[in-house]
Amino acid sequence: MHASDERPNIVFIFTDDHCEQALSAYDPTRIATPNLDRIASEGMRFNRCYVTNSICGPSRAVIQTGKYSHLNGFTRNGNRFNGDQQTFPKLLQAAGYQTAVVGKWHLASTPQGYDYYDVLKGQGPYYNPPMLTAGGDGKPVTRPNTGYTTDIITDKTLAWLKQQRDPDKPFMVMYQHKAPHRNWMPGPKYLTWLDDVTIPEPETLWDDYSGRTQSASRQSMTIRNHLNPRDLKLEGYGTMNEDQKKVWEAAYGPKNEAYLKARPNMSETDIVKWKYQRYVKDYLRCVKSVDDGVGRVLDYLDEAGLSDNTVVIYSSDQGWYLGEHGWFDKRWMYEESLKTPLLVRWPGTVAAETTNNAIVSNLDFAQTFLDIAGVDIPDDMQGESLVPLLEGKKPQDWRQAFYYHYYENPGGHNVARHYGVTNGNFKLIHFYALEGKKIDDWELFDLNNDPNELTSVYGDSQYADVQARMHKQLDRLRKHYEVPPDENPGRAVRGKKNQQRRAG
Ligand code: CA
Repeated sequence: MHASDERPNIVFIFTDDHCEQALSAYDPTRIATPNLDRIASEGMRFNRCYVTNSICGPSRAVIQTGKYSHLNGFTRNGNRFNGDQQTFPKLLQAAGYQTAVVGKWHLASTPQGYDYYDVLKGQGPYYNPPMLTAGGDGKPVTRPNTGYTTDIITDKTLAWLKQQRDPDKPFMVMYQHKAPHRNWMPGPKYLTWLDDVTIPEPETLWDDYSGRTQSASRQSMTIRNHLNPRDLKLEGYGTMNEDQKKVWEAAYGPKNEAYLKARPNMSETDIVKWKYQRYVKDYLRCVKSVDDGVGRVLDYLDEAGLSDNTVVIYSSDQGWYLGEHGWFDKRWMYEESLKTPLLVRWPGTVAAETTNNAIVSNLDFAQTFLDIAGVDIPDDMQGESLVPLLEGKKPQDWRQAFYYHYYENPGGHNVARHYGVTNGNFKLIHFYALEGKKIDDWELFDLNNDPNELTSVYGDSQYADVQARMHKQLDRLRKHYEVPPDENPGRAVRGKKNQQRRAG
């Protein structure tokens, strides 16, 4: 056997918009996710994995390249990823790895650097998704699929692992779910699951944004005002076929009827509470199918004797608001959307049931994959390999502060453009453009005293030293990562057609 055959395989399991609050290895109060928890209990749970730009496409582009959005060119949804640039799958492929990506891609351009791809077109629907793959002539073709998208992505991943990969080569597969992205349509198995329970409300569900600058109150992502009838399953079947509609209607029809009958007598508060329950339960139902799929893949790795030499990594493209601050969605540098889950199982290297509090990031994934495979890491990647942390080491020079940058305004949910720095204890944020106009709002949070980030202490004389230090840190990081000066805030992000796609 050639020595290269011993290199570890990589299974990268990825979801869209899955937060720690809905993953029981982090937070068991709302859902049990026993299969995802297996990765944590047999490996390492990272408690501070921050994303550089909390939104779907940009996060994926960061993972492909190991570079911040301003360098990989994909700053906001609606951009088209330049697949001609250097990416980690290309480097793995060149080093003899077999590479595959299945499921959500969301980078607009055709995947490059993959021996096999079978990906959703754009956002992709929850039922009966058309998917893009290479046809017999190698050119991309769209093929129809029937069923629930989460299950289809799992089936296709398993089919590739079982039948299509070359067993003589190490492999890297990206198994990437659409779920639990908006509009949170559960699979047939879980349409009535959780009907008989009440999900606890977060402390900050009734946040009035009075302790922060204007941006927090000018967004449009509240459970109170911004969930539409399709989000709430009061209308619409998406792309379901007639049989699927019948199953759906049998589950949601009676629930909706009861609500519509009661609604004239409900207070505004009660209506928000109802919307919260409907929204969070549908979200959790979507997560449940993901967890089932992860279980099937882990079981297969066991059955095939692959588990011992396969690194299994679980993450999401960003965190999410499950009602915190009254919100759904992501985008902000506030904790819930800055953080994303990260679990890693690597038998023989990662000790079981370990946790890690170092500041790590999706910026580090590309370098980590290359390091696992023993491939040289290019100098122009901007992250750090996580391998030393996985080996249980505590590198003295590990990053102590993290730079964040969000660009999509004007854009969906009207979150101001902002950038900032956090060291885990304090966070400094600069909101610099809103609704096409320059703004100049600063927020500073003391994360130990105010973990919910309800009151900015920017300008408070008690924090003058901290504020000055954080400003210095921010300037240093912007220089280090080669961030250009603030771009023109009036430049439109996307056309009308694209806005429609983003809302879905
Ligand atoms: Ca996302």
